Amino acid sequence: MSGGTLPEPLRAALADAVGPEHLLTDPALVAPYAQDWTRRWQGSALAVVRPANTPEVAAVVAACAQARVAVVPQGGNTGLVGGSVPGADLGPLGPPVILSTRRLTRLDPVDTASGQLTAGAGVTLGDVQRHAAAAGWEYGVDLAARDSATIGGTVATNAGGIRVIAHGMTRMQVAGIEAVLPDGSVVEHLAGLAKDNTGYDIAGLLTGSEGTLGVITAVRLRLHRPHPPSSVAVVGAASYDDALDLMQSAVQPGVTLLAAEVIDETGMRLASAVSGLPWPLEREHPLVLLLEVADGGQGDGFDPDILGDRDVVLGLDAIERARLWSFRELQSEAFSSLATRECGGAAHKLDVSVPLTSLARCADELRRRMESYPGVVAFGVFGHLGDGNIHVEIVGPDSDDEQVDLLVLEAVAAEGGSISAEHGIGRAKAHLLALSRSPEEIAAMRAIKDAWDPHGLMNPGALIP
Ligand SMILES: Cc1cc2nc3c(=O)[nH]c(=O)nc-3n(C[C@H](O)[C@H](O)[C@H](O)COP(=O)(O)OP(=O)(O)OC[C@H]3O[C@@H](n4cnc5c(N)ncnc54)[C@H](O)[C@@H]3O)c2cc1C
Repeated sequence: MSGGTLPEPLRAALADAVGPEHLLTDPALVAPYAQDWTRRWQGSALAVVRPANTPEVAAVVAACAQARVAVVPQGGNTGLVGGSVPGADLGPLGPPVILSTRRLTRLDPVDTASGQLTAGAGVTLGDVQRHAAAAGWEYGVDLAARDSATIGGTVATNAGGIRVIAHGMTRMQVAGIEAVLPDGSVVEHLAGLAKDNTGYDIAGLLTGSEGTLGVITAVRLRLHRPHPPSSVAVVGAASYDDALDLMQSAVQPGVTLLAAEVIDETGMRLASAVSGLPWPLEREHPLVLLLEVADGGQGDGFDPDILGDRDVVLGLDAIERARLWSFRELQSEAFSSLATRECGGAAHKLDVSVPLTSLARCADELRRRMESYPGVVAFGVFGHLGDGNIHVEIVGPDSDDEQVDLLVLEAVAAEGGSISAEHGIGRAKAHLLALSRSPEEIAAMRAIKDAWDPHGLMNPGALIP
């Protein structure tokens, strides 16, 4: 949605910076950038600008700073917490300019000496994965939105995904960064030195900053040598404790566990209906656990004594692995389609983490709370079991019903968990940050924000309450 009028001097400066064809002001062209993937978050923007390189980003940000117009950086717009689109409540600055990074597609050859790669912020995660693989390397981050999510977006949100158990979060892959700061100046530190103790870690600070401290324009990424081919086991579990026990006991010692995902009965049924895929197991179970191990694709990375008596199916080749993974990868989409079908609205999507020892109790408590909440049509939990990271999906309550979200987040906070495991805070949870961070921590974050961005121009309303 377009909103307000772009002041003439700023329009001229932006058109000059990126070329008139990459300055979008027509409301029909701006609209898709102003609504997020979930369709739950949308706002107004003066324009969308699409710079093609770092000097163009710097010119755009400097022009907006001079005009005191806010900037919302946007990559693939797959974020799930409303951080990539303007807020509905515009605040004193009025409608922002959306800065799309999708034309920042620099992709350098893999540096085989260091096992690193420099990628522009707008390169998709999938393109980085394929580029690394073609050179005999592997990028350690993977998630279902891989062909839309950008490297800049995944760094700005410190994305997690399905390989965290093997390689850690995005932060662990960042070896250097280039970014445009809120005044339009450029910081560049892309050498990727393994040892570099020269003061504050600016790349570390920008990682997870959700567009509030600057626009990331390029990232130096650490790569890994590929694992041997993998095997997947999908196995029925009676409870979270049972699934956690299986995760520890079903994998042979010395074999690398690449993924440990969990899906509940509701999610399995929905994914089966959306994909048309037949039920993968003999029976239905409260939970289904998906384990992937790097064992050469022979299935011998799993302990037959443990899995022998279980309702289990193995995927040993690429097609079978993909078929089994699709039940997990379709979860978010399946709940969204149900919400559209049943209520013409959006599903509530909450991404939380809890200590593994509290997972079963927390999941029970969430189910209890949702069963008694008015209007809930469906409630499901899936996620990254090994990281204690569960995604909670609620269909039924209005999109702007915050009470239902609060019930989930308070239950998680009471267990010592985090209100955002990997999706970030965005606009959705900014006012709830205090559930997971102390007043002193929030004051420190605000001091950094104020020092870097004294006029509050970068992504106002996101992350910092
Ligand atoms: C089907 C599906 C599955 C998903 N699975 C996962 C998952 O497993 N794990 C996970 O962590 N996330 C997951 N996500 C969420 C999402 O893909 C990630 O948050 C991703 O990192 C967002 O990347 P993006 O390029 O789309 O960023 P956007 O959505 O465009 O932006 C996200 C945030 O980053 C900021 N930003 C974007 N680019 C820049 C930049 N260059 N400089 C500064 N700030 C920037 C934005 O302002 C915004 O605050 C999933 C999403 C979908 C739709």
